[in-house]
Amino acid sequence: MAQPRAIKLHDADNVAIVANAGGLPAGSIFADGIELRDRVPMGHKFALADIPAGAPIRRYGAVIGHARADIPRGAWVAEKLVIMPEAPDLAALTKGTPPAALPPLEGYSFEGFRNPDGSVGTRNVLAVSTSVQCVAGTLDFALQRVRTELLPRYPNVSGVVGLTHTYGCGVAIDAPDAVIPIRTLHNLARNPNFGGQAMVVGLGCEKLIPERLLPDGAPAADVMRLQDEAFLGFGPMVEAIVEMCRQRLEVLDRRRRETCPISDLVVGLQCGGSDAFSGVTANPALGFAADLLVRAGGTVMFSEVTEVRDAIHLLTARAADEQVAADLVREMAWYDAYLARGGADRSANTTPGNKSGGLVNIVEKALGSIVKSGTGPIVEVLAPGARPTKRGMIFAATPASDFICGTLQLASGIGLQVFTTGRGTPYGLAAAPVIKVATNSALAKRWHDLIDFDAGPIATGEQTIEEAGWDLFRLILDTASGRSIPWSDRWGIANALALFNPAPVT
Ligand code: CA
Repeated sequence: MAQPRAIKLHDADNVAIVANAGGLPAGSIFADGIELRDRVPMGHKFALADIPAGAPIRRYGAVIGHARADIPRGAWVAEKLVIMPEAPDLAALTKGTPPAALPPLEGYSFEGFRNPDGSVGTRNVLAVSTSVQCVAGTLDFALQRVRTELLPRYPNVSGVVGLTHTYGCGVAIDAPDAVIPIRTLHNLARNPNFGGQAMVVGLGCEKLIPERLLPDGAPAADVMRLQDEAFLGFGPMVEAIVEMCRQRLEVLDRRRRETCPISDLVVGLQCGGSDAFSGVTANPALGFAADLLVRAGGTVMFSEVTEVRDAIHLLTARAADEQVAADLVREMAWYDAYLARGGADRSANTTPGNKSGGLVNIVEKALGSIVKSGTGPIVEVLAPGARPTKRGMIFAATPASDFICGTLQLASGIGLQVFTTGRGTPYGLAAAPVIKVATNSALAKRWHDLIDFDAGPIATGEQTIEEAGWDLFRLILDTASGRSIPWSDRWGIANALALFNPAPVT
């Protein structure tokens, strides 16, 4: 049998996780002499010392909970034995002294598509906005024709995407929180991968008027409504959409990649289907790569409010100034109230998959999640779907739902996304490449044609976090430059956009 392996993350920790694939049986003895009293599944924790009932359980050097009963050394620290701690009190948070700016990293660039507004895309994609779900079927029909009849004639354009969604009709358009879905749709059309070629297909009677989705000053020719009396039936509507697309494909096809500084690159980070290795392998490697991007002048955004809420005191401590700290607290408080209004609390975040992967609660998940934000100062906080005004590490407030987070980060202007997963998900975005990083080699091997990067060798000691981080940094630049195509793009698989609408539906 293979030598039992455990991973302890911090000197102060009184638990470690089992690293062996398939877990370990009772009686397994580690190199340091600890003997397991129970069978412990892979990724799950065991006690490194006797933990009396009520005593803190420490991982990442932080308290992830308290023991519900005496837990002897070598015992499995199962979910039922861990009492979840209270979330950090937002009113009691202090900003502290932010970490020093990371040292500059020179000599890196990428090949991107520069847009008239100065932004730079990593892909050359035609996007069609919609103001209401009613038009989605008709748009899909028209875009099928665009794909088969037009796209082959424009080889520099890599795809066409309909920005369809369920918003627009039957919504409380002026409710305070309606600003979020409307801002999201407005900013989605400005994503740098779309080349500034906005157009909107609307119906004609929806509450959300199409013009609200266009950049300020855009010409009226960028909007069409299916109820326009000039359209005698379905055929002419489709013709009109195809013709609008053709005009924009002409422009997009003239775009060429050019060498751009990393300061033009905006990368989004996300995780989904997390396990106990997320915070041990993939997220630390991604955090190292994120620091490299920031050092090279780039912009990186991390998100998922419910996955950082329980570690917020560690983020406010990294706020570059008082405003950033206050904005972090503002977004957490808004979300606390949003969850309370819905009768939910933060414990609703951890999924059954997270738990069978070894994460006992949201506190442990949060500690493993925030490591992907690296170690430097946090320079800005974005409300959901807002666009950044600064470069560096940014917190973009979003729900943790993969599709909603992806949609909001696209609205916030990411050119590509890096997505870490332990349990596995075939997640993809039509508008931007997604690099999927496996937390363990078992997943990377099983999903050899879906996972782009294997962080598993960190758990087996074959690679350091730094080595994996550098490899991932280079893969990010290759992907941004079109030299590397992620699996989801090769298969053409993508999840639907999903708007975050906390406002009432009527
Ligand atoms: Ca997620």
